Amino acid sequence: MRIELRDAERRKIGRIEVDPVRRPTRVHVGGTGREVFLDWDTALDDARHLRRCISCGCRDLFRTKAFPQVTGFVVVLAFAGAAIGALGLATTPPILIAMLLVFVADVAILLVSKQRLVCHRCRTSYHDLPIARYHRRWDRAVAERHAPPVVPGRKGTRGPRLPWKRSVA
Ligand SMILES: [Zn+2]
Repeated sequence: MRIELRDAERRKIGRIEVDPVRRPTRVHVGGTGREVFLDWDTALDDARHLRRCISCGCRDLFRTKAFPQVTGFVVVLAFAGAAIGALGLATTPPILIAMLLVFVADVAILLVSKQRLVCHRCRTSYHDLPIARYHRRWDRAVAERHAPPVVPGRKGTRGPRLPWKRSVA
């Protein structure tokens, strides 16, 4: 399985490939020279499905669709097609055929895009693995439970400045 690792503060670390059968506990992140420790203890259930995050240990994972990299390109093509259609230029057969091809590509991408698991707490994502049925989709209530802690001093996290709280010089 492929893992897009993130640290406890959800900052990207890098991509690793691990074999769930071998359960490596120390892995080098390709390209960065960084070494990460993976915690496999109780991470797999009886059916060898991933049950919790092996990066941070969180038990709340959600499933979501992982779109292939061509998706962005097709979205741009679809927008171009819509613009051409809106301008009333889609009258010649070649443009209609091109728009049909974009539509077919859209449907194909939806069909081949695979599911992935994402950790609610650290946002590490797990690709190319069988996903157990008990993992649900993203849930606001669960996500709020794992909301990143408020860091004092960071922009937007401070409360309003109240004039009566100002110390009298
Ligand atoms: Zn995690």
